[in-house]
Amino acid sequence: MMETPVIIIGAGPAGASASIFLTKHKIHHIVIERAVFPRDKVCGDACSGRTIQVINKANPDWLAEMKAAPQFFHPMWGMTIVSPNGKEINIPLSDKINNPGVAKGFVVTRLVLDNFLFEKMPSPYCTVYEGAKVLGIKREKSRVLVKMNYKGDEIDLSSPMIVGADGDKSIVRKTFVGEDRNEKTKAIGLRAYYDGVTGMNENSIELHYFPELPTGYLWIFPLPNGRANVGIGMLSSTARERKVNLRELMLEIIKNNNRLSARFENAVLLDKILGWGLPIYTEDIPVSGDNYMLTGDAANFIDPFSGEGVGNALYSGMLAAEAVKVAIEQKNYSAEFLTSAYDKVFYQHLGPELKQNATMQRMFKNQWFFNLFFNKADKSKSLREVITCMFTDVEVLNRLKSPWFYVKVLFNQ
Ligand SMILES: Cc1cc2nc3c(=O)[nH]c(=O)nc-3n(C[C@H](O)[C@H](O)[C@H](O)COP(=O)(O)OP(=O)(O)OC[C@H]3O[C@@H](n4cnc5c(N)ncnc54)[C@H](O)[C@@H]3O)c2cc1C
Repeated sequence: MMETPVIIIGAGPAGASASIFLTKHKIHHIVIERAVFPRDKVCGDACSGRTIQVINKANPDWLAEMKAAPQFFHPMWGMTIVSPNGKEINIPLSDKINNPGVAKGFVVTRLVLDNFLFEKMPSPYCTVYEGAKVLGIKREKSRVLVKMNYKGDEIDLSSPMIVGADGDKSIVRKTFVGEDRNEKTKAIGLRAYYDGVTGMNENSIELHYFPELPTGYLWIFPLPNGRANVGIGMLSSTARERKVNLRELMLEIIKNNNRLSARFENAVLLDKILGWGLPIYTEDIPVSGDNYMLTGDAANFIDPFSGEGVGNALYSGMLAAEAVKVAIEQKNYSAEFLTSAYDKVFYQHLGPELKQNATMQRMFKNQWFFNLFFNKADKSKSLREVITCMFTDVEVLNRLKSPWFYVKVLFNQ
């Protein structure tokens, strides 16, 4: 039986972040990862300011490394949103103004990003088992016991703390919480890599909404070397209700929609179209309990409006490491303690933004409202500015909470 202060399951953004910050706190830990890196992860590959914020906090030199490798990390300055009726709004992301020279985000394949983070993990405090299979997890006498198979050997581990960073199908979550996800918390998405998509604004990501794609959007995110990550996502409940075949719908839109077809005329699909689930945030839920914490997708931390999860996964990994530090200092791994050391801190920092975006997601589900809102914005500079700030300014997000805001918009006030 190997004893360790912390076990992390999964070495994606959430697990890598937890590990990197545990190392900063000089806390020994073991990371168990099923895959062997570099490994792919189905994703839109767009990383916003939060990813930059956490990586900068981990080590500012790493950001400089990323900036110096534009062949992998494609800077992102803005976003274009196209409403179901074809009205377009370009949203510059504000750091170009406030912090020139530092992109607000970037687009990078997860093969590259996750490997970049994975390679930052090794330290005297971190032991990684790659290509390992977890055979069982249980809690006994205030310790978590994990059995794994590593290169043919069965190994038993024991720890007072386990961090679930094992993504959408988290076994840590299943072990400690059970299957509590419902239709509201699930979305599905497909990702494809293309060469030769024309008309891209090289530093802007595009979100396209369509009447035949309610509760979701099609994205085109520019990658280095003229490549693009193209994908589609929607709520699982809508896909099921409408019996949507997402793959067919995506190819049909690309081929026949008059907004996009010409742009894809000579585009070449480079690989298989792959799908994966997006566990989205709907409300504050418990994300820890006796001897465990959940991070990233295992905790449903994907932004319900934008579908972004990488930044929140990194952020939650960082907070989980801080909670572990305090738990070790106080020798307290109880549910009550972890709720205040981890859940409360996470929801205090990111809860308001996630709640607001859940409201926006519900509002824009109504395509009539979406079109009306964008029609008005097409004619009103101040409303366009409000929409721009929605993505960057918490004050503006707060204004959007009031129903009067929408009454005023609709009646041109
Ligand atoms: C189609 C699609 C598009 C998306 N687009 C974006 C986007 O553009 N921007 C964005 O920010 N987010 C996007 N997301 C969300 C984003 O991909 C996730 O939120 C993010 O990957 C979560 O990171 P994570 O570390 O929690 O989980 P993951 O990245 O899934 O990592 C989990 C890790 O745990 C390992 N693991 C799983 N089970 C076990 C096990 N039993 N034992 C050991 N290891 C295990 C896996 O191998 C993996 O390495 C998208 C998601 C989808 C599906």
